[in-house]
Amino acid sequence: MTVRTRIAFDNSYARDLAGFYVPVTGDTAPAPRVLRLNRRLAEDLGLDTEALEAPEGASWLTGGTAPEGAEPLAMAYAGHQFGGFSPQLGDGRALLLGEVIDRDGHRRDIHLKGSGPTPFSRRGDGKAVLGPVLREYIVGEAMHALGIPTTRALAASVTGEQVMRNGLEPGAVLARVASSHLRVGTFQFFAARGETDRLEQLADYAIARHDPDLSGRDDRYIAFFARVRDRQARLVAQWMGVGFVHGVMNTDNMAISGETIDYGPCAFIDAYDPKAVFSSIDQFGRYAYANQPAIAQWNLARLAECLIELVNPDDGDAAIATLTEALDAFPAIHRAEWTRVFRAKLGLSSERDGDEALAEALLEIMAAQEVDFTRAFRALSGAVRGDDGHLRALFRDAAPLDDWLARYAARGAEEAETPEVRAEAMDRANPVYIPRNHKVEEALAAANAGDMEPFDRLLAAVTAPFETRPGQDAYALPAPTDFGPYTTYCGT
Ligand code: AMP
Ligand code: MG
Repeated sequence: MTVRTRIAFDNSYARDLAGFYVPVTGDTAPAPRVLRLNRRLAEDLGLDTEALEAPEGASWLTGGTAPEGAEPLAMAYAGHQFGGFSPQLGDGRALLLGEVIDRDGHRRDIHLKGSGPTPFSRRGDGKAVLGPVLREYIVGEAMHALGIPTTRALAASVTGEQVMRNGLEPGAVLARVASSHLRVGTFQFFAARGETDRLEQLADYAIARHDPDLSGRDDRYIAFFARVRDRQARLVAQWMGVGFVHGVMNTDNMAISGETIDYGPCAFIDAYDPKAVFSSIDQFGRYAYANQPAIAQWNLARLAECLIELVNPDDGDAAIATLTEALDAFPAIHRAEWTRVFRAKLGLSSERDGDEALAEALLEIMAAQEVDFTRAFRALSGAVRGDDGHLRALFRDAAPLDDWLARYAARGAEEAETPEVRAEAMDRANPVYIPRNHKVEEALAAANAGDMEPFDRLLAAVTAPFETRPGQDAYALPAPTDFGPYTTYCGT
């Protein structure tokens, strides 16, 4: 069955990479209903929003029927999960519907998560439930609004089915948009099988898609590795700039595109704590806030291993040396990106050697006094404008802050811009509203009980994160103490 609406699919993955996926069909949902459609995104993709909201749209957004031109498939991939290698993961509860070219000429995947079992499901049921689907919707859209590369949420739909998780929960499907779903784990799948020809085909496909200027160059594979490295170095710095903890940085959850992907057990810190971990299964803090750069580098080492044969088929040692050199550059590149992010947060547009230490010094005081990360950085523009009252109110002990503010004022005096111009720039770098964990939980609990209003209000707050608005104060505050320590769960 096909729907009437035509979607201009152009499915390069299905066309160019036979053998890298399994064609699949989704489950037919008993009562599919589109709960929320991201109309702006749908329009950017050239999709017909009315058709998406019609019954046929609900059917294809849950995977039951495929629109004309779709070639639904489950992608093969492997991955290191918490350091242990699984040679076969793959889309176990998801399918790639197809690709479209958006209004800006960029190729985008339309992908359904929760659409039913596939040959990669292993023991899983192939389903998703409403809470996690809405969490991915909110956090992904918030990240986009914060200017951080991410997959996007096109729609959240319910299937009308009840799915067993923590008791029965509403079955749901997320329609997700990404610049591709190529992961480090996609490379690992073919490398682990020793399929060098396919690995080369995959790398050339990835290059054509994400780094087309490298296509055809003799050194394209090492140059490609360096591009992936640079994108991750920047991405993780951007995460850290908003207090984001991804929570499950397995190699199958690291996208070659440099977009944030897979919002499972992710969370945002309230009080600044470099050791912050939220995931119930991350007992050793592998994916803690401050460990994210080291893990990104670890994951890149796994990608580098896959590329040895391609970088130099005749001389493995030389290939390893070249890749190691590129990998070893990661910490410095990440550090430069981190400093760029925090300079902007401090309202420094010129560059001085001590800037990194200045930012670190503030973070140290914040950690010692458990100061709310988002509020403190936002309040800093007040200090630049000459009123540090809001900032000071966030610190228990003003003495270390005063010392730091004196250093900061001296550094600020070296800036060419006026304080007001600097403060305005800071207010575009330091959000007021992030998806606070307790607000996300509140929205998901209400949605499970049939009330979407808290979700809509939260989404409205976090998708315009830089602009203080009346009536939105509740979204700018950390969790009340009775919310307790926050724990998130994988595989939901
Ligand atoms: P994730 O933790 O969502 O990144 O998923 C890791 C792997 O487990 C992927 O191969 C998923 O497709 C698979 N998976 C997660 N949940 C399910 C499920 N309910 N049914 C089948 N496969 C799943
Ligand atoms: Mg995943």
